[in-house]
Amino acid sequence: MIIRVKKGATEAEIAEVVRRIEANGLKPDASQGVDRLVIGVIGDTRKVGEDLFLELEAVESVHRITRPYKLVSREFRSATRRVKLGDLTLGDGSVAIVAGPCSVEGRDMILTLADEVKAAGAQALRGGAYKPRTSPYAFQGLGGEGLRYLAEARQRTGLPVVTEATGTNRHPREDGSIEDERILDQVVAQSDVIQIGARNMKSYGLLEECARLSGPLGKPVLLKRGESATIEEFLLAAEYLAAYGNEEIILCLRGVRTFESKDYQRYSSDIAAIPILKRQSNLPVFFDPSHATGDRHLVRPLALAAVAAGADGLLLETHSDPQKAWSDGQQCITPSELERIVKDVRKLEAVRGE
Ligand code: PEP
Ligand code: MN
Repeated sequence: MIIRVKKGATEAEIAEVVRRIEANGLKPDASQGVDRLVIGVIGDTRKVGEDLFLELEAVESVHRITRPYKLVSREFRSATRRVKLGDLTLGDGSVAIVAGPCSVEGRDMILTLADEVKAAGAQALRGGAYKPRTSPYAFQGLGGEGLRYLAEARQRTGLPVVTEATGTNRHPREDGSIEDERILDQVVAQSDVIQIGARNMKSYGLLEECARLSGPLGKPVLLKRGESATIEEFLLAAEYLAAYGNEEIILCLRGVRTFESKDYQRYSSDIAAIPILKRQSNLPVFFDPSHATGDRHLVRPLALAAVAAGADGLLLETHSDPQKAWSDGQQCITPSELERIVKDVRKLEAVRGE
């Protein structure tokens, strides 16, 4: 529910609106519009009638939010949320470039690659330390060791780090031993942006706990769309993060599963979802052409299409030697291809409308 307060309302009148909201067990969320105060009402407003507020002299209008997601909706908050990523401000019309390997494979590997992606124009470094693999026998990531290398790469290059939390449990190491630390706590403590992957988009317990831990630290969460999630399910997953204490959210599309065969494209690129999400939600929207296509030759055209469609950022899997990558090599681009894409993105960014 959104309450628009009349221009020139007194402090006492506004306090009465707030009192009535709180008396119903709800929370007010006030924001100053261009010329009037708008108070969002957070909580279950089904039992509260509009008249309770309309009868007050200071109230101009009461509007019910029609969508099931509230805090992340544009109806609730019309301005795009500006999310900080290092020195960057996401959602201001510019395009952020986040690049790096699918998984961190070692210290030298990630330090070298961090230098390379920075030189190619990337503004943040991605890299998986905890990997959600389809097969339990596939490489599961270097875990805490990988996080430490990423922290070193950040220190060396100044690039903020985006890495994934795969769950709250302990991590199996390559040598068969178990890393006896909670994954989520490690990632929240050491990463600049916490990625929640497509497979975990509907792990509501993880979303809740991630929001509770990362919200007070002011660290954003990059939430990927589940491979078979509808746009509404995706936005409701984002609403979980917001409702549990972290509204610094980046939505990231990465292709969805369709009838199309994997022989041609790994997933189908959901480019139309970019302007749809920007219309329905107040959050910045990224696109990941690497996972969406699963094919390095398709990364550039889809990256440019996403920027043309309004993406606020790109996630680009990059490797110094893609043929030798421990995961997702077929879709990794080289640092020189990254440089070419960044140059094209900057040209497109200059001519696209907001
Ligand atoms: C990734 O970004 O490395 C990843 C695993 O992506 P997704 O969750 O989109 O599959
Ligand atoms: Mn990957």
